[in-house]
Amino acid sequence: MDKGVLLIVSGLSGAGKGTICKRIMEKYPDYELSISATTRDPRPGEVDGREYFFITKEEFEDRIKNGQLLEYAKYVDNYYGTPKDWVLAQMDQGKNVILEIELQGAFQVRDQIPEAVLIFIMPPDMEELERRLRGRGSETEEQIKKRLLRAMEEIEYVDQYDYVIVNEEVEKSVEMLHTIVLNIKEENKTGE
Ligand code: 5GP
Repeated sequence: MDKGVLLIVSGLSGAGKGTICKRIMEKYPDYELSISATTRDPRPGEVDGREYFFITKEEFEDRIKNGQLLEYAKYVDNYYGTPKDWVLAQMDQGKNVILEIELQGAFQVRDQIPEAVLIFIMPPDMEELERRLRGRGSETEEQIKKRLLRAMEEIEYVDQYDYVIVNEEVEKSVEMLHTIVLNIKEENKTGE
């Protein structure tokens, strides 16, 4: 069986990358979204084991020590990390695995798995980003400011990504992402 493609989707917090990832899985069967571990508190409506595995700092540090994470990073005030064994097993089963992670993690994964494809999702404009972040209503003003600042810093690294998708319409962004994956699979086949 062909190995699945490892897709790393980063982007400005609030750019709509979560919606795109959810939608591509509804639409096509061979995608899986990796569920990260984090030390941040759940937002209203988030469920342990669905959006994230919500764990303590001590548990997180144990996972780092035991080599259970493919990558990890600190974002604003918390740790976030990707489960290694699960991701590798899904790819072996032919699934295209999506990691929705920030950029330090993205570059760590690329160092280990050079065939990973890095995709950066941009909001159509920065006011839209701020509006979406505030519209979510789950963060304090201080946290929103920190996230906006972090977003500005991340934009400087966009040119190190393989593709940039400007998310004007979810359906269009999903099709772009899917086309990228189909092209990679085709290239892998002809390269064999
Ligand atoms: P949020 O708190 O908004 O859910 O996530 C904050 C940031 O952490 C987002 O940019 C998200 O993509 C990123 N993130 C989520 N899970 C992981 C992970 O496992 N590793 C890394 N490096 N970043 C992650």
